[in-house]
Amino acid sequence: MPVFTHPEFDAHEQVCFRFDRASGLKAIIAVHNTRLGKGLGGCRMWPYASDDEALTDVLRLSRGMTYKAALAGLPQGGGKSVIIGDPRHDKTPALIQAMGRFVHSLGGSYVVAEDSGTSVADMRLMAAETPYVGGLADAASIAAGRTGDPSPATALGVFIGIQAAVRAKLGRDDLKGLRVAIQGVGNVGGRLARHLSEAGAKLWVTDLHLPAVERCVRELGAHGVPMDVVQSLDVDVFAPCAMGAVLNDHSIHQLKARIVAGAANNQLARPKHDHALLERGILYAPDYVINAGGIIDIFYEGPNYDEATVNAHLQRIGHTLTQIFEHSAREKRPTGEIADRMAEAIFR
Ligand code: NAD
Repeated sequence: MPVFTHPEFDAHEQVCFRFDRASGLKAIIAVHNTRLGKGLGGCRMWPYASDDEALTDVLRLSRGMTYKAALAGLPQGGGKSVIIGDPRHDKTPALIQAMGRFVHSLGGSYVVAEDSGTSVADMRLMAAETPYVGGLADAASIAAGRTGDPSPATALGVFIGIQAAVRAKLGRDDLKGLRVAIQGVGNVGGRLARHLSEAGAKLWVTDLHLPAVERCVRELGAHGVPMDVVQSLDVDVFAPCAMGAVLNDHSIHQLKARIVAGAANNQLARPKHDHALLERGILYAPDYVINAGGIIDIFYEGPNYDEATVNAHLQRIGHTLTQIFEHSAREKRPTGEIADRMAEAIFR
């Protein structure tokens, strides 16, 4: 399995592998760039089909974190970690503790946080092994009802981003009657569904995990749809909120939505798919810009946490996206390319 010649290798500063015999932990940490600060990023647990699939994911995700932090206006770098395993069956306290020790072994160049397949409880377990854990609420915040889970802020940021995209593409300010298809109604997608429903949008939802769909149907009046049709529905917005690479040769031609705006990381299977979306006249909200709410929230976590400050920072996601959409329209260049250029001007 090549690393330095891997197609997703992008001058990453560190790529570390760990096997822990006692707990069965198999994990990779990648630190992409620490020019603006420590490499912060979530720990994803997923039953990857191969080691190479896990490496590909961690290289891409960590790079995305550098770009995300830069455009979110945070003094942080980019990193990410993956645990190879099924979170529903393979996760044990010993495995998470071993992951905490792995994080600690990098001496602070990587700061771990929650991601798909890991929870705030897992972060607390890791925090017993290392101080390099982000986004943990302190005792006062917990007493005030906060958990340290970044998903609510991520969902709110995506909602704000959808508002900006709707304004840019459809020329309207309210979301009443807006038709949105959400792929994945987990921690972020489920909350996004709630915001959209409160704003009067009509929802079509799908998920691997059926109870999550049933909940949206029951509580929000959403339509539950099979997983393989969600990207081809006749809706205004397609919101990918599950896994990456959902915008690919196959799916882009099926899209009927005029906007793609969702929480999932690395939505474009290849950079060329950014161009394919532009050619089809679909407005794409670059993933790492619209889903930055989580790292913004993590940045402010601590004794002086102030919701109004966080929410004001989340609103900036909408402003940044509007800038990107305007540049894209002016230069007739894809939005992802414009966002990359803006981020690189900040972190390079
Ligand atoms: P989650 O695990 O809580 O939710 C993801 C949901 O997607 C799950 O319910 C899962 O069953 C479902 N799913 C997986 N594959 C699917 C498929 N092929 N079709 C339909 N559903 C599928 O994760 P989350 O925290 O909600 O994160 C969702 C996405 O957003 C991930 O890509 C994550 O990296 C990204 N993200 C999350 C945050 C955060 O704060 N949690 C921040 C930034 C980005």
